[in-house]
Amino acid sequence: MWLNAAYVHNEFMSYSYADHFQFQTTAFFPRSAVHSYLQGYTEINQLDHYITGSTDVIDLSYNDSTKKFSVTTTPTLDASTTTSYKTPQFVQTAITVEEFDYVAIATGSFNVP
Ligand SMILES: Cc1cc2nc3c(=O)[nH]c(=O)nc-3n(C[C@H](O)[C@H](O)[C@H](O)COP(=O)(O)OP(=O)(O)OC[C@H]3O[C@@H](n4cnc5c(N)ncnc54)[C@H](O)[C@@H]3O)c2cc1C
Repeated sequence: MWLNAAYVHNEFMSYSYADHFQFQTTAFFPRSAVHSYLQGYTEINQLDHYITGSTDVIDLSYNDSTKKFSVTTTPTLDASTTTSYKTPQFVQTAITVEEFDYVAIATGSFNVP
């Protein structure tokens, strides 16, 4: 997979592709270069501790009185597991609820938020 649009369409203004690679790059990249650039942006801005992988958001609600979003997550299930989100055992052990002031939804075109 390669970028299907020139990198200027997905470049952070505060951290250019030239900043990351230390030379003026071509307009289109393979996926590995985009991954490297995003990792560089994450590291330089010390964002690692804000990022959690392999986690499904399974519920989201807004509380009018606290003005906060309540986000319920659970570790992403392995396709081979038979555990269901709905079993009482799973609910007790693997569900986390956190509160946030803001939520950005970026679930892609193929998922319903
Ligand atoms: C067949 C195909 C080929 C393509 N080829 C190219 C190409 O060569 N070059 C190119 O530049 N673009 C290509 N694209 C387009 C590119 O893949 C998309 O534009 C890009 O991936 C969109 O990024 P995104 O982050 O918005 O969404 P996505 O990449 O779809 O990411 C959304 C993420 O959210 C996660 N998610 C969804 N729901 C939840 C939830 N409840 N909890 C936690 N996580 C959740 C999903 O698992 C996914 O990882 C292609 C697309 C398709 C379908």
